[in-house]
Amino acid sequence: MDNPAWLRILHCMDTDLIIVGGGLNGPALALAAAQAGFTVTIVDSLPLDTRKRIDFDGRSYALAHASMRLLRGIGVWSTISNKAQPMLEIKVTDGRAGEGPSPWMMHFDHAEIEEGPMGFMVEDRHLRRAFLDAMAQDDRVTQLSEETVVAQSVHSAGATVTLASDKKITGRLLIGSDGRKSGTAERAGIKRTGWGYGQTAVVCAVKHEKPHGGIAHQFFMPNGPLAILPLTKDRSSIVWSETDANAAALMAMDDNDFLNALRPAFGSFLGQISLTGARFSYPLGLTLANSFVAEKTALIGDAAHGMHPIAGQGLNAGLRDVAALAEVLETARSRGEDIGGAQTLARYQQWRRFDTATLALATDTFNRLFSNDNPLLRAARDIGMGMVNAAPGIRRSFIREAAGLTGDLPRLMRG
Ligand SMILES: Cc1cc2nc3c(=O)[nH]c(=O)nc-3n(C[C@H](O)[C@H](O)[C@H](O)COP(=O)(O)OP(=O)(O)OC[C@H]3O[C@@H](n4cnc5c(N)ncnc54)[C@H](O)[C@@H]3O)c2cc1C
Repeated sequence: MDNPAWLRILHCMDTDLIIVGGGLNGPALALAAAQAGFTVTIVDSLPLDTRKRIDFDGRSYALAHASMRLLRGIGVWSTISNKAQPMLEIKVTDGRAGEGPSPWMMHFDHAEIEEGPMGFMVEDRHLRRAFLDAMAQDDRVTQLSEETVVAQSVHSAGATVTLASDKKITGRLLIGSDGRKSGTAERAGIKRTGWGYGQTAVVCAVKHEKPHGGIAHQFFMPNGPLAILPLTKDRSSIVWSETDANAAALMAMDDNDFLNALRPAFGSFLGQISLTGARFSYPLGLTLANSFVAEKTALIGDAAHGMHPIAGQGLNAGLRDVAALAEVLETARSRGEDIGGAQTLARYQQWRRFDTATLALATDTFNRLFSNDNPLLRAARDIGMGMVNAAPGIRRSFIREAAGLTGDLPRLMRG
């Protein structure tokens, strides 16, 4: 008997998964899926050399403990672990430039949980390269660089994407990992909810005289938070969220003027500071896809949810998408179900969308509450911080939240 049309198409598929976007979440999924036995083709518009440049992206990420477990599970952690700085404590304080931190603060110490450090600071240049190198070593992963997806269509057996070079790729499931302005979502008819914050994050790294002791600091300044996050070798990553206009002015300054502007906010607790590289800026906003799935299509990472970096959770949330989707796909295959089927995708959406929407809105509320110099709000949040700090149970649940150890953890994050 002849095979049905969909089965004939299935046999001519180029790959199981087509991943659009080779930033950070796309490669993580490519490796997790390949390890589970799926074939993957991952496409990115940018040349490989550009993405491997050490000054490609100035960010450093606060990776939660659970994200580290995922990276360990997909074989990337061993490459970067000696360049990762354990985060042992987090101190959160209200502040005003020139006044120093207020006495009210929240202090979270990893010693209050059994798992170890709450997380690790990892520089983009190390993480991105580790992903690219690991994918190059995996026979199941095909990487296409300098290729842009310009069209997509779905059919009963899967999806087809068309590249700007006119090449076509067919796969059983299409993944949009193409960032905040996801073309995959748009072409699939998925609408987004979101807004800008009128804030831009100025990001750089500084070297300092005194050791940071693995302590991350978050100062809530009137125009936006200033995060001082520990890196290896007596360095810290700065994420300074300011109004768009102030951030533009900070970016336009020479290094000396910039340091003079930073010092009153930074304070003197780490001794003298000096810049160790370039400054980068990232406009901040919230964007949430109204659905994480469409026919034969799923969204992960910033394509599904882009949030304020106030709690350092964007990439962690994306990596949770990765771990959840990889598990859902493995389960579907073991049950003989279609990996691009509606039921499979509904399971992924159910697992991730509510959690992520809640997190994105929490970061939004947090930012509005803290990027504000209203004296009443300031008094209320200072008292709130004092109360959290004085309650060991609440403090411990904050620490577990920051470590990514709460909720329905996918297998790859359970350790
Ligand atoms: C200042 C700042 C600090 C942050 N700090 C933290 C932190 O401490 N911890 C944390 O967890 N998160 C943090 N985040 C969030 C984190 O940076 C993002 O969540 C993460 O980088 C998103 O990665 P992604 O792979 O989903 O998307 P992206 O990095 O945006 O990658 C998308 C990729 O898709 C490609 N692409 C787009 N369209 C196409 C197309 N049509 N065809 C082919 N390729 C295409 C692009 O070239 C790009 O490489 C921070 C964010 C900011 C702004």
